[in-house]
Amino acid sequence: MPNASNTPVSDFPGTVTEWQKREGRHHLPWQGTRDPYCIWLSEIMLQQTQVTTVIGYYTRFLERFPTIQALAQAEQEEVMPYWAGLGYYARARNLHRCAREICQNWSGRFPGTSAEIATLPGIGRSTAAAIAAFAYGERSPIMDGNVKRVFTRHFGIFGVTSARVTEQALWDKADAVLTDAPPSLDMAAYTQGLMDLGSTVCMRGKPACGRCPLQHSCYAYAEGRQSELPSPKPRKEKPERDCAMLVLTRGGAVLLERRPSTGIWGGLWSLPEFPDAEALASGCADMGLDASLAQRMGGLAHVFTHFKLNIEPWYLEWDAPETEEPTCEDHIWVSKQDLANAALPAPVRKILDGLAGSEPMLF
Ligand code: SF4
Repeated sequence: MPNASNTPVSDFPGTVTEWQKREGRHHLPWQGTRDPYCIWLSEIMLQQTQVTTVIGYYTRFLERFPTIQALAQAEQEEVMPYWAGLGYYARARNLHRCAREICQNWSGRFPGTSAEIATLPGIGRSTAAAIAAFAYGERSPIMDGNVKRVFTRHFGIFGVTSARVTEQALWDKADAVLTDAPPSLDMAAYTQGLMDLGSTVCMRGKPACGRCPLQHSCYAYAEGRQSELPSPKPRKEKPERDCAMLVLTRGGAVLLERRPSTGIWGGLWSLPEFPDAEALASGCADMGLDASLAQRMGGLAHVFTHFKLNIEPWYLEWDAPETEEPTCEDHIWVSKQDLANAALPAPVRKILDGLAGSEPMLF
């Protein structure tokens, strides 16, 4: 019976690779290309995001920015609408910075090894290895969240995966697996196979061990310990933050303000935000608006990686003539029609969708 110390590694990559070729995913839009730009884009979009969500974003992004040069030449505000709703917006800002860096420092050619790719902004070791495996067939292991789940279960590696010692044990195992693998190993299929196994078979809640090609050598399956691996993180309550947002409309348009380029939703357009309703009222007064006419809308919460944001939206219709503007900078009026194309964070879009669908119609 396999256990944590003697689980064989010798047939692991071959089994994963053969299974991928037989039963893995082959029709995703970023498969079948060796263009490192397309592969890089897909890998960045897939971080923290489901494949089904990424497909539409990926296609639209490439239509608008088909090459590294096209992306580098664009301004950041032209890029953000193509990321709006995907979340984790630092990814888009880093992507844009990377494109410029590649054009300036690499003569517009994507770096040719995972070690070089990992020097670019926002690209870690695992993502760099995945790009190099798919684009160049480089023999470097990956270790993303899905792969960590497969490795911890299959090889019986305990310990919180974000802990340095556990992470090192995982990388060491991934290296050892490749060291023992035959030179003919198809790195692209092996890498894709690990990703496919983690997301479609060895799933977080209910691993489908009955159809897993690794069942015969899996530690967790043999010991019935699938639910214990990966070792759960100690529960920690997320801190919460409250804010109030002003939904100010005028003649069928809504007022948006640009977020600072760093921090949450950096560079996106959002509703004017205040720490609480009181600050919102004085913000309204600063703009010459009567806050007592504002109506409270249904609140909503948005969960970020490190905290939960409770949003209290307030609706106010401004009946001033269109020539008058609120006295604040970096604000624009956006018509209902143009909102569809605006780079809005998902919760802000939800608030505005609710506004459009309310009775009586507020837009
Ligand atoms: S046998 Fe089950 S637990 Fe083990 S790798 Fe396969 S799906 Fe995961």
